[in-house]
Amino acid sequence: MPQQLARLLRRMMVALMLLTVLLLMWQHWGMTRVIRFDAENNAGIFFPIDDRPLGGKSLATVTREGDAMVLSCALDGQAYAWPFCEASVRIAIAPKGIDLSGLNEMHLDLGLSSPKGRKIRIYLRNYEPEFSTLDDPLSLKVNEVEIDVPENGQLTIPLRYFRVASWWLIQKNIPFMHSDMKLNNVSHLEIITPNAVVTGDYQIRMNAIEFRGKWINLTQLLAGIVVVWLLFGMVWLILELVIYRQQVYAKRLQMAELKNINRALEIQAENLSYQVRFDSLTGALNREGLRDFLLQRWQGDRLSEAGMSLLFVDLDYFKKINDQFGHAVGDQVLQLFSQILKSEIRQSDALVRWGGEEFLIVCPYTPLDAAARLADKLRLAIEQADWPNGIALTCSCGVATRNPAEGFSALIERADAALYRAKAAGRNRVEVG
Ligand code: GH3
Ligand code: MG
Ligand code: MG
Repeated sequence: MPQQLARLLRRMMVALMLLTVLLLMWQHWGMTRVIRFDAENNAGIFFPIDDRPLGGKSLATVTREGDAMVLSCALDGQAYAWPFCEASVRIAIAPKGIDLSGLNEMHLDLGLSSPKGRKIRIYLRNYEPEFSTLDDPLSLKVNEVEIDVPENGQLTIPLRYFRVASWWLIQKNIPFMHSDMKLNNVSHLEIITPNAVVTGDYQIRMNAIEFRGKWINLTQLLAGIVVVWLLFGMVWLILELVIYRQQVYAKRLQMAELKNINRALEIQAENLSYQVRFDSLTGALNREGLRDFLLQRWQGDRLSEAGMSLLFVDLDYFKKINDQFGHAVGDQVLQLFSQILKSEIRQSDALVRWGGEEFLIVCPYTPLDAAARLADKLRLAIEQADWPNGIALTCSCGVATRNPAEGFSALIERADAALYRAKAAGRNRVEVG
């Protein structure tokens, strides 16, 4: 799963890279936005204005001629000092203008005939609620350029070349902080006769007016791309973190499980080694256990120095118990027999079930007389114990102490021989060999 996810993330990154390049290319060569005004689509928004309301005598008319709107003007400088004619184009209805601030340039396709020169003025009127009002058209901010119309009439003006007209700032007494050029809410475009007054007949033929730019400018696009990349990086990091934590958690679970398994195995091994060394019925050591006991506890000849004694204990007529009361009672008797023996001997002694109802007691550091006393104590304890079903039981015992350099099997043989003698002498006895 994490590998699949990593692959998916890598693919997304490649896709994002491609998208970034494509967007940048598209922004550079495409994404063009054009707002166009011409006679064919917008004849109704062209209006003539002249100086007659101000006391002048200039006469402006706007007519449609074919696919062009034409401003015709007879400029008269006699009655008014700054005569003018203009074509006012209402590209929007104030107070809601068109936002041209994201666009780059204005393109005009014009035809001009004038008494002298090829200059015209262009105004872009911006409605700004700080000082513009609907009842005073002059309160719209005047952003202007004055420019020569080339012979072919094709005019392209970068919008940043427009400047707020200083006469307008003075006339309207606009505070400095509002005196910047703004094209975010343009409702009027005006094409006007030049500043320098040359009276006579003018004709400005307006074939098309276009504002051109990009749907998304480079700064906006770059900001967007940066945000998307940042988000992608964040998602990547978060996913990595989540996956890492999941992995750590899984590892921990695995470790815990391994620990459990280990523990179970240890317990099992302990049980097994116990089973290997102890007799399951009585809990006494078995022969394997005896071997371990001898190997572990008594190294070398230290045993022989102080002497080691061996007791061979055997229940008398045990077969009869089985015959009379059944095997289960026989087992019970064997368990009790083992318990009594265990309770009577020292911690350092070893009780071994040698076979059937025969037990061996290994007593380290025990001289023969002490061993014989122990044997008799055991014999008495068995004789006096309460046995199931009111059975009366006795045992016989052979005792031997290890001679220096004597092998263990030889020692057992001597104890066994002593036991045999005890049996032969009538049982319920201790014989020392
Ligand atoms: P003795 O006085 O000569 O020792 O006679 P005995 O009957 O005690 O000895 P014998 O060796 O003739 O019989 C031992 C019996 O112990 C034989 C067998 O059935 C019984 N026995 C051996 N192991 C077990 C055991 O694990 N459980 C039970 N219930 N009986 C066992
Ligand atoms: Mg017996
Ligand atoms: Mg026996």
